[in-house]
Amino acid sequence: MAGGVGGDRILNQRLFEIKVISSFAAAHNLKDFRGKCENLHGHNWKVEVVLRGKSLESNGILVDFGEVKAATREALEEVDHKYLNELPFFSQNNPSSENVARFLFEKLSAKLNTGGRRLHSVSAWESADACATYMEF
Ligand SMILES: [Zn+2]
Repeated sequence: MAGGVGGDRILNQRLFEIKVISSFAAAHNLKDFRGKCENLHGHNWKVEVVLRGKSLESNGILVDFGEVKAATREALEEVDHKYLNELPFFSQNNPSSENVARFLFEKLSAKLNTGGRRLHSVSAWESADACATYMEF
């Protein structure tokens, strides 16, 4: 029989994780939402991009931070200083922080998923104490 006690499984799981933090500014207003965010306003979003992998390159790194930063910068150009509701993705999907995270995840996973590393999650902080995360697993 496979398995064992739960503790063994935890000890057998090993991986590396890296995180890059960026930011962008944009305006939005939420549809079908009763509250402050239904009116046009802006946020300075903080974005966390997390990659995971079980093994490192021969040089001891999972992924070059510079590569992740460059890919993130390129993805953020599509939303930075924009009115999100006017972008095609957000005319289909309400421009909530959840969907901002999903939008960036989809852009970034296409660029960053190679070899043994995978984009794990993208988090979008719309304020210092409110964050939404999107991940696929
Ligand atoms: Zn808002």
